Amino acid sequence: MKIAIIGGGAAGIMAAAAAYETDPSAEILILERNDILGKKVLISGGGRCNLTTGLRDIRTVLSRYPRGNKFLTKAMHKFPPEAVYAWFEDHGVPLKVEKDLRVFPVSNEGQDVMDVFKNIFKTAGVRVMLKKQVTQVQKNKDGFAISLKNQDSPLLVDKVILTTGGQAYRQTGSTGDGYAFAQSLGHSITSLAPSLSALFTQEKWVADLAGVSVEKAVLFVIPGADPGSHSQIPARAPLGRDDIKRVEGPFIFTHKGISGPAVFALSSLVAFESLSPEKPLTISIDFFPDRKLADVLDSIWFHVTKYPKKSLGNVIGALVLKSLAPRLCLSAGLNPDSIAADCSKKNAERLAQTMKGLVLHAVARAAGEEFVTAGGVDLKEVDPSTMQSKICPGLFLAGEILDIDGFTGGFNLQSAWATGRLAGESAIV
Ligand SMILES: Cc1cc2nc3c(=O)[nH]c(=O)nc-3n(C[C@H](O)[C@H](O)[C@H](O)COP(=O)(O)OP(=O)(O)OC[C@H]3O[C@@H](n4cnc5c(N)ncnc54)[C@H](O)[C@@H]3O)c2cc1C
Repeated sequence: MKIAIIGGGAAGIMAAAAAYETDPSAEILILERNDILGKKVLISGGGRCNLTTGLRDIRTVLSRYPRGNKFLTKAMHKFPPEAVYAWFEDHGVPLKVEKDLRVFPVSNEGQDVMDVFKNIFKTAGVRVMLKKQVTQVQKNKDGFAISLKNQDSPLLVDKVILTTGGQAYRQTGSTGDGYAFAQSLGHSITSLAPSLSALFTQEKWVADLAGVSVEKAVLFVIPGADPGSHSQIPARAPLGRDDIKRVEGPFIFTHKGISGPAVFALSSLVAFESLSPEKPLTISIDFFPDRKLADVLDSIWFHVTKYPKKSLGNVIGALVLKSLAPRLCLSAGLNPDSIAADCSKKNAERLAQTMKGLVLHAVARAAGEEFVTAGGVDLKEVDPSTMQSKICPGLFLAGEILDIDGFTGGFNLQSAWATGRLAGESAIV
């Protein structure tokens, strides 16, 4: 049995390792256009490689995938984060779970993750073929014919595992070629969109706060809110309303907008919504997600009346980050340099409203800097128990090429490992 794995990223290398572990006598080829395997694994997590999550409950893990979570259920049960953790440790990479439940090698070196595969492929019967760019995949009577750039005769194999990734960070080699291969073999590709990106805002004042990071906030979007109107924004994102996209977590102000885990998650939820200066997305930020509006108002009023001679900005700085206080006053229509004694109850209410719902308008995504591609090979056309194509027998698909994407926190590599492993094991049978 000869199996070609097209694309030597996370899904491809895990598929190869799994195929080898299932049947060491099989002939397994990895075709990779780059001169190394796992270019994206190496830059993941800022080079530290956040390879999975410390979450253990599979339902909770699956909830971190805005697209593809149902489809992923079987693969995830077979190779959950816990098993991924154990697998890498068994293969000589000690791991650690950080406070925010992201999992990294203890060494903080993504290279250690890649060395696991290097070692397996060195001793195993897996042939790693680097600098091999696939240009076409054709089904024939007995298997597949794979055409390579600058090579006359096609490679003939029995089965193909297609793991060419999405089209984010194209400089890593993931340019979306696999979509065309899948289409030529009969598959449909759903709409594609960038996901996990920073957002640019209409509000230019964000530049004054660039670098200010907020440890915990709730960000929510109300599609269709009139960008000019603030009155439509509820002080708290109503839970249970399907049209409200709501995320909780840390975020950071940037020169042009907002970024960080909560913003990435939000960008993922709005991946398919168009953003533009003419049609911005209205985002509301709650800086006190664990406190009621009345409670925040009480705190403001307490401080305002206790320190009447201090500036309002100073007083508010006792409740939120000091650097944020003047902006919150300004957004509430109040002068941060005015004395607290001049702050009426009505003004305090406006401040409390702003702290529970600072309004920003997202006008664009940080282009080309997204971490993943939302959309991909239509999941209806793939068997979730095996990752085999329902349209083209002998073809298996795994990783980001599928219409699956997750939030930041190790979820995208986790789905690549899980689907890659399942594809590798299934293809060998
Ligand atoms: C900057 C950045 C940081 C990230 N950090 C994290 C993180 O910390 N944790 C996390 O879970 N996820 C992270 N991700 C996302 C994660 O890295 C990807 O979702 C995951 O690597 C996808 O794996 P894959 O194997 O499906 O595809 P890829 O890793 O994209 O691999 C596809 C491979 O196919 C090859 N290929 C493509 N076309 C051809 C062709 N025609 N011929 C031959 N080879 C081809 C490519 O060169 C590439 O090596 C990050 C992404 C980016 C961009």
